[in-house]
Amino acid sequence: MAALSARGHAMSSRFPVIFLGHGNPMNALQDNEWTRGWAALGRNLPRPRAVLSISAHWYLPATALTATESPRTIHDFGGFPRELFEVQYPAPGDLDLVHRVCELLHPLAVRTDIPWGLDHGTWSVLRHVFPAADVPVVQLSIDESQPPSFHYGLGRMLRPLRDEGILLAGSGDIVHNLHTYAWGSRPAAPFDWGLRFEGKVRELVLQGDHQPLVAYESLGRDAELSVPTPEHYLPLLYVLGASEESDPVTFPVEGMDGGSVSMLSVQFG
Ligand code: ZN
Repeated sequence: MAALSARGHAMSSRFPVIFLGHGNPMNALQDNEWTRGWAALGRNLPRPRAVLSISAHWYLPATALTATESPRTIHDFGGFPRELFEVQYPAPGDLDLVHRVCELLHPLAVRTDIPWGLDHGTWSVLRHVFPAADVPVVQLSIDESQPPSFHYGLGRMLRPLRDEGILLAGSGDIVHNLHTYAWGSRPAAPFDWGLRFEGKVRELVLQGDHQPLVAYESLGRDAELSVPTPEHYLPLLYVLGASEESDPVTFPVEGMDGGSVSMLSVQFG
């Protein structure tokens, strides 16, 4: 890809694409090193026309979009304080973006009739990145019936959005094992398998070696423990798919929460 886009804009007009490790929903309310990192992202990123969010928490057997002018705030969890259920993130939707995504993914049948809104994978982070909720947000679901390569391929098809003022954001966790997660308030040391897997992902990302990241199920025991179910890992594949070889790679937020949830963010561009 040349240094100019098809429309002749300089490279600097191409939006970054970013994977966000969202972690515990309580981050929505907290002020900690991760949430401060998200707030810094909001200050440092160019202001997008809209965000297309691929959240781990909309995982169903379809590729779907939130096709509404005013997506509702979904509190898709249980057992948290009432304060968390009272959070609203009233960002508008963007029907033009919905139309454009359908066009880019054609001939894939994209559902626009499945009721959803913005789930906590999206708002727990965006509440810190764009606290005024004034940037429109559309969510794209993750089709649970499809293999990892499908999700990587969709990311590739969505790449043109980066030249159209859209911020593509995948929200999940590269290491997400809730069986071993320390829910208490005491800090827990990270598990070595989680650190090793996260380290492997970083290394492959920096090398631009996406094939083993798509075939993560063959990365051995560390991958099995870090990715016991696919939904929190798959948003990374959309982000990798939408990246370009020439993109600089940075990790604007880092850390491991509760021993087994990676807070790593990966930014391309
Ligand atoms: Zn989650």
